[in-house]
Amino acid sequence: PKGGEICIEDLDKHARASYPLCMRFLHEALRTHHHLRHFGRLQYGLFLKGIGVSLQDAMRFWREEFTRIMDVDKFEKEHAYNVRYNYGQEGKRTNYTPYSCMKIICSSVGPGDHHGCPFKHSDVKILANKLQAYGISSQYVGEISELVKGNHYQVACGKYFEATHGKPSNGIQHPNQYFEESQVALGN
Ligand code: SF4
Repeated sequence: PKGGEICIEDLDKHARASYPLCMRFLHEALRTHHHLRHFGRLQYGLFLKGIGVSLQDAMRFWREEFTRIMDVDKFEKEHAYNVRYNYGQEGKRTNYTPYSCMKIICSSVGPGDHHGCPFKHSDVKILANKLQAYGISSQYVGEISELVKGNHYQVACGKYFEATHGKPSNGIQHPNQYFEESQVALGN
């Protein structure tokens, strides 16, 4: 989809059907906690820009979530700048690029963080439970777990794509490429 075609009202649906796991986890954590830490906001915020969410919609999306746990003033003071920053509207006015799998896999992730690549950064048992809860068949969960144990994170991600789309991916290099491929596979 070209810029502006993705509507923030559809993000829950896209998270279930078209997001790679790294972004699905961030989206769900944001919906649950109404907050993400700095690197989570960056990883997810740039992804959203990449799938075609406009700055205006992104601002509304983050504001609606964050203001469930903070007042609008605090949001405007502490977070609105960063949303504009992601879109190159503040600071050095760089048009920041969404993160690739390599960058996400290599990021450092601590307790309480939701960013990173789940295939690399999640405990394999917790990951397997999560996949089961998402309705992934035990055969796929088993295959994905084996790939994770062998440190084949992006191949595991491709298996997740296959399990959720009924066809293999072309090889996952970038979360935004995953999304685009998913949209094509779903006929959107
Ligand atoms: Fe995200 Fe890439 Fe990890 Fe897949 S392999 S979950 S797209 S970082």
